[in-house]
Amino acid sequence: MSDCGCDKAKANIYELLRGELCAEESAPIREHLEHCADCQGEESVCARLTDAVRRACEEEREGAAPADLRDAILRGLPV
Ligand SMILES: [Zn+2]
Repeated sequence: MSDCGCDKAKANIYELLRGELCAEESAPIREHLEHCADCQGEESVCARLTDAVRRACEEEREGAAPADLRDAILRGLPV
């Protein structure tokens, strides 16, 4: 199984999910993920982690927003 691309795909999944790979780099990895259940499982774990980290960052930014802007957002007003 050493030539299936799993090592390369798994080594680059975080970069892929964070959009840090150029199209040329990400294309073969995306293609591999489509055919490899093992790497799909790895990808979904990484995706959940990446998502959790992004949400934590967004909550931090929201906390730093001016109070009136935060109020407007909470009331659904156009900002
Ligand atoms: Zn694989």
